[in-house]
Amino acid sequence: AIICFNIFACQQNTDKVNIAEETLNQKVDSIINLMTIEEKLGQLNLIPYYEDTKEAVLQKIKEGKVGALLKSNGVKTNLKLQKAAIEETRLGIPLIFQEDVIHGYKTIAPVPLGEAASWDLEAIEKSSATAALEASAAGIQLTYAPMVDISREPRWGRIMEGAGEDPYLGAQVAKARVIGFQGNNMKSNSTLMACVKHFAGYGDALAGRDYYINDFSERKLRELYLPPFQAAIDAGVGSVMTAYTAVNGIPASSNKFLLTDLLRKEMKFKGMLITDWTTISNVVKIGVAENDTIATKMSIDAGIDVDMTSRKLVNTGKKLIERGEISIERINESVRNVLKSKYLLGLFENPYKYFDEKREKEVLLSEKVIEDVRDVARKSMVLLKNNNKLLPLKKDIKTIAVIGPLGNSKSDLMGQWYCKGDKNDVVSLVEGIQNKISASSKLVFAEGCLLGEKMDAIKNQKLLAQAIQTAIKADIIVMALGERGWQSGETRSMADINITDEQIALINSIKKLKKPIVTVVFNGRPLILTKIEKPSDAILEAWLPGTTGGNAIADVLFGDYNPSGKLPVTFPYHQGQIPIYYNYKRTQLKVKHLDVQDKPLYPFGYGLSYTDFKYSDIKLSDSTFTAKDSILATITVKNTGNYKGKEVVQMYLGDEVCSVIRPEKELKGFKIIELDEEESRDVSFTISVKDLTFIDRNYKQSFEYGKFKLFIGTSSEDVKETAFYLKE
Ligand code: BGC
Repeated sequence: AIICFNIFACQQNTDKVNIAEETLNQKVDSIINLMTIEEKLGQLNLIPYYEDTKEAVLQKIKEGKVGALLKSNGVKTNLKLQKAAIEETRLGIPLIFQEDVIHGYKTIAPVPLGEAASWDLEAIEKSSATAALEASAAGIQLTYAPMVDISREPRWGRIMEGAGEDPYLGAQVAKARVIGFQGNNMKSNSTLMACVKHFAGYGDALAGRDYYINDFSERKLRELYLPPFQAAIDAGVGSVMTAYTAVNGIPASSNKFLLTDLLRKEMKFKGMLITDWTTISNVVKIGVAENDTIATKMSIDAGIDVDMTSRKLVNTGKKLIERGEISIERINESVRNVLKSKYLLGLFENPYKYFDEKREKEVLLSEKVIEDVRDVARKSMVLLKNNNKLLPLKKDIKTIAVIGPLGNSKSDLMGQWYCKGDKNDVVSLVEGIQNKISASSKLVFAEGCLLGEKMDAIKNQKLLAQAIQTAIKADIIVMALGERGWQSGETRSMADINITDEQIALINSIKKLKKPIVTVVFNGRPLILTKIEKPSDAILEAWLPGTTGGNAIADVLFGDYNPSGKLPVTFPYHQGQIPIYYNYKRTQLKVKHLDVQDKPLYPFGYGLSYTDFKYSDIKLSDSTFTAKDSILATITVKNTGNYKGKEVVQMYLGDEVCSVIRPEKELKGFKIIELDEEESRDVSFTISVKDLTFIDRNYKQSFEYGKFKLFIGTSSEDVKETAFYLKE
């Protein structure tokens, strides 16, 4: 018999080992049969390229002690490392290069929360596909995205990475992103394997402090946090990442109920399960295991496959196997998941197909990519206020002043997780407006105040005085306020999410000049805009809009794009309202805070357009139906304003009587329509029993007969209402 140890070489020679004809499992098992324990553990070891010396990493690769790398550096380096894995290891198993491609690789798209505000699943899918196109051209095969943690905690910086507060919208966005990243064939060298994260409940950070654990019930886990993960799994996501949180007192990354009973068995996840950064050693840090060996055993027993950066599995795994504390079968299972992923990515067939320097140069920051990213950026913007139809602005304004600390900033627009994004490629708001206005128009700019840096009262006073002098000359003022790019993201927890005092003082001083004020808000999280709401005649929520940010904002401000975004998360009126979200559970008496208005400043689903939409009453095809059939709910939406525009028509349901407490209303559908002036259209939603299901007292998805409320409208608050019955 010919024993060919180098698998890649074997595959080229199909006469000797006929691997190609076998099923995926058989293919993988035929490799596993050849592997030593060390090689198996090596496949489960994921390390960063930069942490050790580069030579040390290369050496480890050659010894077969590394299965994948994260945070690597472009095609040239990755090719060198892949060659070492293929040509210099005993079995020639390819590496997977992994990276946090969260909202773009080189051309940065808006932060994911911003993209979710588009509610435009096609645009979101396309944006993920664009990110995958760039990242794959830069030698990457797997992204740690989408982040699908539902969160109702705006103080938590990582709210910017997700799709907001709602599990239904979150699930739709999760699916769109997985399909966008992975395409319909992960073997293509222009797609990525997605790694949905963080499983699960990480968005429940205590008081918004990152990594702090808030106990939550299994009901909350199932109702709120799992749906986007299930949607990602159903969409075929290749991998899942664990979380830095705990479920029921047990760290998520070593929690068997979570990772095996729920994720594998109930939710039917079949891919590769990666821990978050050093979560194996974290089990020791948080005092649930005495030492790394015990922590490793706990995590393996719970069901993890790949150890991200703790190196505990590669270092203690052999000892645990030899002592019989973990079985080799259990390790084989994980190795199988890793090798299958490598097959699915087509790496065994061609491990070098991602490494083409010419393609890297052509694709990164290409015109097409920039245009696509600009498109999703303008779709993500939400018009929050537009008094007297101040917007859109005319391009031939005589003098326009941009005032505010974010007015000419570039780096802030990229937010956190911008991979190889370069601030020099970013179009600032000042530049975007300059690109848009007529040659005869004049633009002036002043920073106005300090933001996110050590306060220097004298310097701040000077900036304010300059801003007033600058604004005096203008016919219209565009204020650029909010938070800096680095203020949201991982570890970026905030106790105070009000617009800062300096920015409030700035807008109030400018207001005294009695000129129209348009405020553009930059932020990765809901901020409390209450104090800048009044002095602003118009407000545009721009999020952290990425590389093309300034151009995309100008597209909207000057009417080349009529805003169509809707908030994917509630904007509080007051900090003390947090947590505040639209689908709170029914309560016996709606007691209000004595000192603060009951409503948020802007509710979930809210967003204006330059045109106006009028909703008719809801018509139902029938007022009752059974579990076997469905009804059709129709509403007529008319564009009664003066612009062509898009509207996100939202459908919510509420259960009148149920054996567990349910929310007043829950989003269950939405449709985007585009209407010309005076045009009207019937928008219909089919409602069937699957829209009426809930998590019952035994944690099963079930339904109950009875009366349901139906709401259709332009936001979670502004809806038409009717009712129907589900009958036996
Ligand atoms: C984050 C993950 C990220 C990982 C790798 C962790 O700290 O929680 O979301 O994918 O680092 O960068």
